Amino acid sequence: MAPRVLDLNERVGLMARLLERLLGAGIRLELELDDPPRRVRADPSQLDQVLLNLAVNARDAMEGRGRLRIGTGSRLVLGEGAGRIPPGRYATITVQDSGPGIPPDVLARIFEPFFTTRIENGGTGLGLATVQGIVAQSGGHILAESPPGQGARFTILLPRHEGEV
Ligand code: ADP
Repeated sequence: MAPRVLDLNERVGLMARLLERLLGAGIRLELELDDPPRRVRADPSQLDQVLLNLAVNARDAMEGRGRLRIGTGSRLVLGEGAGRIPPGRYATITVQDSGPGIPPDVLARIFEPFFTTRIENGGTGLGLATVQGIVAQSGGHILAESPPGQGARFTILLPRHEGEV
């Protein structure tokens, strides 16, 4: 599919319904859709792929039990102190699990192709590299964090579409 202008809440909401089944009864999915809805320009099926990859990773890390929070929001990145993210208005998707979190040495390499800690469980290490590639193709950025005691948190920033649909 080609990129088009999407209502982020609508797309994330649709995908969440599918993910609920995939996650299974042991994982509670909490959806927090920000108001007002933000528009982005992206390929919808690629965006679905990103959410699917993050949800499958979270399910595996939580071993089928826990809580997955998917939220949408917005962030204004200013020039100063923004790190590697260019200044601008972004729509955000946050995916946070209640699993064991990510140790610093893994966090540093998590987006590298073929980097996996799950080799004996069929991990390829391609999931997050693919996710990062898709997000970059839409002009966006992805951050991985692991706040102590809170599981893993992925934040996707996509440039907001301000013009006409
Ligand atoms: P794979 O899932 O095939 O290992 P990925 O690129 O999707 O490859 O993930 C790379 C590594 O990142 C995983 O092996 C795992 O160590 C770590 N990881 C990814 N998501 C999570 C998560 N939600 N919680 C803890 N660790 C994670």
